Amino acid sequence: MSFFEYKNGILHAENISLTKIADAVGTPCYVYSRAAFETQWQSLDSAFGDYPHTICYAVKSNSNIAVLNILAKLGSGFDVVSEGELRRVLLAGGDPAKVVFSGVAKSWSELEFAISQGVNSINVESISELERVQEVAQSLGKIASIAIRVNPDVDPETHPYISTGMDEAKFGVPMGAAFDAYIKANAMPNIEVHGIACHIGSQITKTSPFSDSLEIVLQMVKRLADNQIYIKQLDLGGGLGIDYQGETPPTAKEYVDAMLDGTKAHGIDLPIAIEPGRYISGNSGLLLTKVEYLKRNDRKAFAIVDAGMNDLLRPSLYQAHHAIWPVTKNTAIESEVFDVVGPVCESADVLGYDRELTIQAGDLISVMSAGAYGFVMSANYNSRLKPAEVIVDGDQVHVVRQREQFEDLVKGEQIIEEE
Ligand SMILES: *Cc1c(COP(=O)(O)O)cnc(C)c1O
Repeated sequence: MSFFEYKNGILHAENISLTKIADAVGTPCYVYSRAAFETQWQSLDSAFGDYPHTICYAVKSNSNIAVLNILAKLGSGFDVVSEGELRRVLLAGGDPAKVVFSGVAKSWSELEFAISQGVNSINVESISELERVQEVAQSLGKIASIAIRVNPDVDPETHPYISTGMDEAKFGVPMGAAFDAYIKANAMPNIEVHGIACHIGSQITKTSPFSDSLEIVLQMVKRLADNQIYIKQLDLGGGLGIDYQGETPPTAKEYVDAMLDGTKAHGIDLPIAIEPGRYISGNSGLLLTKVEYLKRNDRKAFAIVDAGMNDLLRPSLYQAHHAIWPVTKNTAIESEVFDVVGPVCESADVLGYDRELTIQAGDLISVMSAGAYGFVMSANYNSRLKPAEVIVDGDQVHVVRQREQFEDLVKGEQIIEEE
């Protein structure tokens, strides 16, 4: 079910037309549906049934505190990759006891903060990090709960920039070294071995990479048990894909069943944590933008819009495809094939190539599936102001982040005072 649909020829977010949002808030603007976030989260939660589980929403996919608050109210846990994300979760009312802390480069002070907050698990990505976690915990007089993030060397069959679980990736500890890391961790006085974690990549559209990596993780769990190291939680990462352009990823039920089948086959009934980001946020938002100009040269027609790669980087960074829809269906003019491009002074500033659209200058268009890795990757390149973010909840519109002002752009900058 989509929460973004045409009603009387006008694209709506839940019960609100996007034209109304553009009038009130301006463009470009990210528009999210509260019900979409909730529906996606609940589909995973209910797929687990009674099986003990924690859904740790990957904050990096969309970290607006209003989004985090909506999910925290459902009882969500969170996967964070920095102190900033952990602080957002706390600000939004999230429970640190349901937070897993991922990332390859956790600094001393980030570890201090996370351990003091009592996070569920620090997902350790190297032996040197493990040693640092022990030192930090010791200096605080605390015990740090950890998992080793293993790298199962499984091909998620996705874009190379979002593959993380193959042997050439910087992420995780290779299986051989992971066993030794657990032996080491188990002997450390300020470390409690809590779980095992893996995350193999993003936008995965089949269950087999998940099942394959789970199998490798479960082999390790057994090997550890044979050595009197008892894992208490399986953190199976995120990565479940979504439909951007007709992909048919597994449903929440198929995805969760694949994992439960895997654990059952081994007679293992450990609690499972998952770290879905895109699955929850991706199709819960869009980027609303206005056509400034139409421009034609000998070879191409361009729709030049007021959102660019600084607002939505995915097409430029990953050659990602986002559907582009006109906000108002116009039957009075002919359709034409456009490259939809932004204002940024870079040839890579393209939101979509060769899109057949029926549009005129001044029209609104919507870049779909932009709820994940959209606003969070936005930047101020070309001194552009970051767009506003809006959540629609039924027939209510909430601005959950103001459009930036010029003052925000130069905050902290200073001219050199001459002596
Ligand atoms: C990015 C990331 C996720 C979320 O990935 P999605 O594809 O958005 O589900 C989960 N866990 C870790 C460790 C990540 O780096």
